[in-house]
Amino acid sequence: MSYVLAVDLGATNIRVALGTREGKLLVKVKEKTVREGDEYSVANQIVNIINKHFSNAIRKVAGIGIGSIGPLDLKKGRIIKPVNLPFKTIELKTPIEEKLGLKVRILNDAVAAVWGEKIFGLGVNVANIVYITLSTGIGAGVIVDNHLLLGKDGNAHEVGHIIVDFNGTMRCGCGKLGHWEAYASGRNIPEYAMYLIETKFSQLLGKSSLKKYVENRKLSSETLFKEARNGDALALKIVEEIGKINAAGFASVINAYDPELITIGGAIALNNRELILKYLAKYLDFYVINRKPKITITPLGEDIVLYGALAMIIQEPECSTAL
Ligand SMILES: [Zn+2]
Repeated sequence: MSYVLAVDLGATNIRVALGTREGKLLVKVKEKTVREGDEYSVANQIVNIINKHFSNAIRKVAGIGIGSIGPLDLKKGRIIKPVNLPFKTIELKTPIEEKLGLKVRILNDAVAAVWGEKIFGLGVNVANIVYITLSTGIGAGVIVDNHLLLGKDGNAHEVGHIIVDFNGTMRCGCGKLGHWEAYASGRNIPEYAMYLIETKFSQLLGKSSLKKYVENRKLSSETLFKEARNGDALALKIVEEIGKINAAGFASVINAYDPELITIGGAIALNNRELILKYLAKYLDFYVINRKPKITITPLGEDIVLYGALAMIIQEPECSTAL
């Protein structure tokens, strides 16, 4: 059994890779995630991708690891009411196991990612690791004392909803107030940036390269960070405010889990390494109480969920639920 199949199941794309036991991703395939059909459509799509691209290798495959969007019912191996896909439930484990005759393990994508970091990344020989993704949303995977944290419903790692502002200036996508994700995730940064521009930074708009985007209400997270990298004063002020919010979020993670290592991934972090790390370094000490961990960008990059999916088959995580 020399190979493993790794699946990164996102709301936009499904990525499938054939990998080796040593952690090498040999072939990667990407398709848009299906948005029509029933609770078996996504599983059928994954089975079809595997049959189409990996049929030659399948006899030598030890199992299929899936890092998935949530929320998951880990015991039943399904997704329940995904926010960004039009299905009530998505059955994964049972139909894929039945159709391919292979063992399937599933974890939330950021949870899979931290296991990938431990087996194939910077976390080898590290017992306490947190992986944080700064992307469309904010998520994490947490390993404490070599134990992968899941919680009673599998949500022990939902750090995106940590409260960074009890006054609740911004409302989160989950409907509640003051959550980290409402200020610093790709989905919500534009609204928070507009709020800052209309309040404390209104004087800076006149000379800013952000002006035309603001006037057309077309300011995106990507544009904001791009103009900050170009040195625009207003964009930098906003990115620094987001940096303070991130520092509060990271400090809460450090205060709660006491990690030795935090690795960061997700498009916002991978595209803005210096800006993200700079403001964490500047503001973390205002909030953190535990001894600070090493904090760095993950070397596994945008493939970290695939590495995690690979890792969960090669070495089953020690956790409270049998996967
Ligand atoms: Zn929330």
